[in-house]
Amino acid sequence: MFSSKESFQKSFLKRLEMTYGKTFRESTSRDQYNTLGNMVREYISTNWIETNEKNRSANNKQVYYFSIEFLLGKLMGQNLLNLGIRDVVEKGLEELGISLSDIEESESDAGLGNGGLGRLAACFLDSLASLDLPGHGCGIRYKHGLFDQKIADGYQVEYPEQWLRHGNVWEVRKPDQAVDIAFWGSTESREVDGKLEFKHVSPETVVAVPYDMPMIGYETSTVNTLRLWSAEPAHHPPLNRDLLTYKRETEAVSEFLYPDDTHDEGKILRLKQQYFLVSASLQSIIRSFRKKNGSLHNFHEMVAIHINDTHPVLAIPELMRILLDEERMEWEEAWEITTKTISYTNHTTLSEALEKWPIYLFKPLLPRIYLIVEEINERYCKALWERYPGDWNRIEQMAILAHGLVKMAHLAIAGSHSVNGVAKIHSDILKMREMKLFYEFEPEKFNNKTNGIAHRRWLLKANPELASTITEAIGERWVKDPEYLIQLKRFIYDEGMKEKTAKIKQVRKELLAQKIFEQSSMKVDPSSIFDVQVKRLHAYKRQLLNVLHIMYLYNRIREDSNFSVYPRTFIFGAKASPGYYYAKKVIKLINSLAEKVNSDPKVSKMIKVVFMENYRVSLAESIFPAADVSEQISTASKEASGTGNMKFMMNGALTLGTLDGANVEILESVGPSNIFTFGLTAEQVLDYYENGGYRSTEYYHHDVRIRQAADQLINGFFHETEGEFEAIYDSLIAHNDQYFVLKDFSSYAEAQERVEQTFINRGEWQEKSLINIAYSGSFSSDRTIKEYADGIWRIKPI
Ligand SMILES: *Cc1c(COP(=O)(O)O)cnc(C)c1O
Repeated sequence: MFSSKESFQKSFLKRLEMTYGKTFRESTSRDQYNTLGNMVREYISTNWIETNEKNRSANNKQVYYFSIEFLLGKLMGQNLLNLGIRDVVEKGLEELGISLSDIEESESDAGLGNGGLGRLAACFLDSLASLDLPGHGCGIRYKHGLFDQKIADGYQVEYPEQWLRHGNVWEVRKPDQAVDIAFWGSTESREVDGKLEFKHVSPETVVAVPYDMPMIGYETSTVNTLRLWSAEPAHHPPLNRDLLTYKRETEAVSEFLYPDDTHDEGKILRLKQQYFLVSASLQSIIRSFRKKNGSLHNFHEMVAIHINDTHPVLAIPELMRILLDEERMEWEEAWEITTKTISYTNHTTLSEALEKWPIYLFKPLLPRIYLIVEEINERYCKALWERYPGDWNRIEQMAILAHGLVKMAHLAIAGSHSVNGVAKIHSDILKMREMKLFYEFEPEKFNNKTNGIAHRRWLLKANPELASTITEAIGERWVKDPEYLIQLKRFIYDEGMKEKTAKIKQVRKELLAQKIFEQSSMKVDPSSIFDVQVKRLHAYKRQLLNVLHIMYLYNRIREDSNFSVYPRTFIFGAKASPGYYYAKKVIKLINSLAEKVNSDPKVSKMIKVVFMENYRVSLAESIFPAADVSEQISTASKEASGTGNMKFMMNGALTLGTLDGANVEILESVGPSNIFTFGLTAEQVLDYYENGGYRSTEYYHHDVRIRQAADQLINGFFHETEGEFEAIYDSLIAHNDQYFVLKDFSSYAEAQERVEQTFINRGEWQEKSLINIAYSGSFSSDRTIKEYADGIWRIKPI
């Protein structure tokens, strides 16, 4: 049906009429979208079945990527592209008088994630399928993804996201493969043949129903599966329970994605979600494994399970439970299989983000799992005691259960065979500082896997004009082999190439300017520098540093008639966690500043400030190609890797960044003259934390630029309610600026001047931009996934 324009049109029209009982002329773009989606699903169904068949019959190890988040975005465009049918469809529709991009608009973003961690999982699924690797995702089918953000009077307002409102063409419900998840109740034990047997009695059951989504590889027949679980009430609800309450409580388990990036929400529902995800996924993996293999003695040879951060760490005690209670294995064998199956990625060193669950919540909700965790802890502490006899202090620091808490990261390290960080510097900090004791105990477990991004989404799909220009220059090999982009180095000084890529950037800036106008009726100058900071709003990401610098420019332009800057548009996009007071204040501050700057006749000739609302994957795809400057200005040591930095680089933006996360590796790739770095190093930051010695008030008193901007937060400058930005002021002054904003200010301002000087020399800028694109191939998630496949999972292509 996609073999030619004509045959596509024929089946498309026929289906549209059959499905909706309308003529083509009467159909809406949503009808058209659904029709096209169903055609694509049917088109890939044979390959999907065959991939599953091959995986079942071949003796090929499978990996399952457990993640509480998958930030997929829209799927239609990428699927058409990967299947090589985008052109046929686009041309066919064009002749019918409709545009593919209009149809794509009616798809909702699958926003089942908060930010980097969830997007990483989505990029990984693209690479797994495209590399023909037998790898599948396991997640939760949240009814509501990350909230929709609107800005009202400068404040963030949250609305429940509704991606399923019009259905989801990509999913297939599989009720026959549903499994039961047991919560609450109690455990009973009895001795059978000299062995204790445990039983979970009178639990409350939630039914987990799988919805499968095809993950289609690029120009290959491989179609992997993302299995998302939905919570439903059992057919036979518990006696003595109010039916409606029971229904509401069970469905609540997969109702909302927790809109919290780093802090532990501390809600029992969240723990329920975590167990729901791992128990459902493991039960279904083991059910099909048993069908084929009978016993589970070689489970770890055929199955790898990866846990994306600690949220799915209960996979460890859950797998133990199945091996012990259902398979009746001895502890030692069960533990060996479990640790050899599971591997773990750490995503943060922020201590407030390390998950810890109070035992008084954990134990009643998951009574059998708790007993197993207790035993894991006891045996782990015993091993530590044997290695470090008498070192109570060390053992206390490493224990899984301590001070009334279950420490999820400790459980993850103890129960897996691999622990990795997500960028070189992050993995080093884990080994040398945050997880030093664990590294000393089991150094062989620790390794690094620098994050990557799906270059087929973030370049090929998001920036098709740049992609074809690259292909014209070096051929299409880079699409399957992204490190081949290095061949672009031959074109760095090629005037034709420089002109073409500059033109493409210009066009994308004009498109973004148009979008900004549609959103906020604001006119921005597409020939100005597009200086972009888009990411979650968090103190450590330091949107505030960017803001203070813009305030300084504003003050200087107004006060010093000899001062001028090259025109610049500062673009922000960020969601703040709804309960994160400080972050929401910074959003308000950006909007208040935008109003000040944009309404000042003198200042707005040179600079503008834009806050784009509802930052999400689909919006990101129109922002990265239009950026000149990539703001990656986190406090060094705090950003584990970052992936936004890679998307900008791949689209030819130059990084302005600290030596943090993968910025360090971007610097190593492109060299110091093709990136703008500034600020404290991670080592300096960590030394300050350890030894003190930083006083933010010194910088406040000695730098008039800082003092003026800081004072403006509280002296009525912004015409907001009194005290509106007091918390921000206090964070800098009263609380001694924990993220070194003031310390790094001067160095940042200097780096911004270097950015400007370089941009003015357009030819030089364009060369640096090309160098960034040329070296971006090693930041493809294809490279990352190959490293996981070879180094951790030991899996081979199908
Ligand atoms: C890539 C991406 C992120 C992560 O951005 P960072 O700058 O690495 O924090 C967050 N949200 C969306 C929508 C993304 O596409």
